[in-house]
Amino acid sequence: MEQKQLLSIILPAYNEQDNIVHTFTVISSLLSAKSIPFEILFVDDGSYDLTYQQIQTLSTEHPEVKGISFSRNFGKESAIFAGLEAASGDCCLIMDCDLQHPAEIIPEMYRLWQDGYEVVEGIKTSRGKESKLHTLCAGTFYRIISKATGVDMSKASDFKLLDRKAVDALLAMPERAPFFRALSSWIGFKTVSVPFAVQERTAGTSKWSVWKLIKYAIQNITSFSGAPLQFVTLMGWIMFVSSIALGIQSLYRYFTGTALEGFTTVILLQLIIGSVLMISLGIIGHYISRIYDEIKARPRYLINKRCGF
Ligand code: UDP
Ligand code: MG
Repeated sequence: MEQKQLLSIILPAYNEQDNIVHTFTVISSLLSAKSIPFEILFVDDGSYDLTYQQIQTLSTEHPEVKGISFSRNFGKESAIFAGLEAASGDCCLIMDCDLQHPAEIIPEMYRLWQDGYEVVEGIKTSRGKESKLHTLCAGTFYRIISKATGVDMSKASDFKLLDRKAVDALLAMPERAPFFRALSSWIGFKTVSVPFAVQERTAGTSKWSVWKLIKYAIQNITSFSGAPLQFVTLMGWIMFVSSIALGIQSLYRYFTGTALEGFTTVILLQLIIGSVLMISLGIIGHYISRIYDEIKARPRYLINKRCGF
């Protein structure tokens, strides 16, 4: 019988005071029953409720619980990377701490990893309860990001189990704004997917506002894809072709002596060129600001407190 290897479970938590203890109980009783050695690593992403106090209390009672607390809210991606960095397991599992990712399939994911798979990804079979608008926006976001990565991301989630090799590969990436879901596909390795149905939140509310989601989408699309920059080129070509057509028309009118009308054309052209130029500048500006962020090379997160280490 081979020796069982340590599983690190990473749980990003932002204002999840009502979930910490429950989630711990569910996961630990499940894994103890299957005698899988584990550690649980909560990453408190700058919560302003009692999340960290809960984690701290748990860690004094249970040696397998560890906690990290950020100095402010740095976002879920940063929390995931902080967890990966602090984890000591032979494999790491990332999941939401509201139990929307069902804990029951962890043993199966662990077994697949033992069978030699290096990336075990949870694939959503249903998206759970969401508003229509949310589903629509999420659909658009995933279409763009799937094109950029060449991997179908519409069912992808952050619920993944990674081998140490994959974790080290991710940690070696110097990106300041990593997009975990896409990067963990991009790195390759022997991958297998496990379907799961998104559960209802156990307590509290979703931490995403519409504005936060828009920012998240733009950030991740631009961090993974240069496609929006190509939009500029595309619009340029469209304008070029239409200007040839309009140019020929104008010259024809000039030579046939009917040139005086055409104010409509001028105004339309002004508007179109003006707006396309401004959109283009905006897109380029966004990428420049991303380069600016990368070049400043600020840390992805700042840790304020730790417990259980
Ligand atoms: N989360 C985080 N930082 C944030 C927002 C969310 O660490 O800025 C965590 C949150 O505590 C939860 C997970 O990310 O464990 C998923 O968040 P949530 O359940 O609010 O998202 P949803 O399931 O509604 O997409
Ligand atoms: Mg959730």
